[in-house]
Amino acid sequence: MPNAASRGFTQRMRSAAPPRQAYTRKPNLSEVKAAGHDVLRTVNRRILLNILSERQPISRADIAKISGLNKATVSTITGELLRDNFIVEEGLGRTTPIGGKPPTPLRINELRYGLFGLDIRADETILALSDFQSRLVARKSYETGADPRAFLREIGAEITRLRAEHRQFVEIAGVGVSLPGLVDNPSGRFISSVVLPWRDVPVVAWLGEATRLPVHIDNSARCAALAEIWHSKAAYAHVRNLLYVSVSSGLACGVVIDGSLYRGGTNTAGQFGHVPLDMNGPECRCGLRGCWDLYASDNATVARYRAMPDATARRGVTMRRIVELVESGDPAATEAVRETARYLGIGITGLVNGLDPEVVVVGGEITKAWGHVEPIIAQEMRRNMLGVGEGGRDIPLRRSTFDVRPSLKGALTLVLSGLLSVPHVG
Ligand SMILES: [Zn+2]
Repeated sequence: MPNAASRGFTQRMRSAAPPRQAYTRKPNLSEVKAAGHDVLRTVNRRILLNILSERQPISRADIAKISGLNKATVSTITGELLRDNFIVEEGLGRTTPIGGKPPTPLRINELRYGLFGLDIRADETILALSDFQSRLVARKSYETGADPRAFLREIGAEITRLRAEHRQFVEIAGVGVSLPGLVDNPSGRFISSVVLPWRDVPVVAWLGEATRLPVHIDNSARCAALAEIWHSKAAYAHVRNLLYVSVSSGLACGVVIDGSLYRGGTNTAGQFGHVPLDMNGPECRCGLRGCWDLYASDNATVARYRAMPDATARRGVTMRRIVELVESGDPAATEAVRETARYLGIGITGLVNGLDPEVVVVGGEITKAWGHVEPIIAQEMRRNMLGVGEGGRDIPLRRSTFDVRPSLKGALTLVLSGLLSVPHVG
């Protein structure tokens, strides 16, 4: 007998209007997943968890309305979620003025899971623990070690200590790791980076050994893109296609296509910072010439500022300092940042022409001078984006939702998305 969840799903499929767009996704027959009851059960459970997470507190009747599942199916699934501690009932025992029992709203149980996020950068690494509602409960910072094995062992011991201090969670879901360079997700290895001198490090194996927890890794720009898709509820809540441009010591991007992170054939997608803007330009750290990174990264802004005749602070100047100088009205710092914004605009416009995202998000220290940066990038996009003009396209440009370490939020989101994303069928 088909269970209630699959009956509800089938009814919904029958009654739904034909899709506005033809499907194009080819089934993956090398690891085919037919839509059996267990898959449908997972799909429906996760759809409900997502509705709860976004609309809570919410009644079963409202969940039924939003999901299109019938009330009996919603009752069955929420019953299971209550039993498994994923959700809790709120406000039990109240009555309405006419004496009837009001619907009992439901909400996510934030203590169902604890999630660890580890944001590794060339200089500083941050370890954080969050609950299932993405609220931070602990945060620690370390100087990134030169010896990856010893460093990851030390972090593993810290994770074990934090677990002992925070026993309130039903379960620890895993550790998400953001890394500043190329990663190979299937083998769980960090391959290389132009900013961090680690080479071919089995991060998943070593950290997994040290913590006995599932470990997920990804590149920092892609982590930040993932965080934008999962957490930026107010600004662009239901965007499916997003381009994230991470501006730090280097320049990298994260591309989200139809709600999924695009990783590419060998998992290195997003390195648009090493697309040459000028074949006769200076040599880049990657070996190519005239890369976008050389004109629009923080390193480029710092070098530009230091070369200016009226620069007031040359030695040891950082991007953070330059942004402070911009805020205080310093003309040289302002011009250096504005020049970087022009190059950001040129590169972003090319990517928008190729990828057609619904929104472009820029992250990094430079976004603290957004009042100077945004108009210049936007002007470049208006001037050179294809199909712009009377009634033409207008693609929103935003700064990152997260002021501090978007990649840390992304590391945590690697674990969270594993718990809430809906599996592909086929
Ligand atoms: Zn390069």
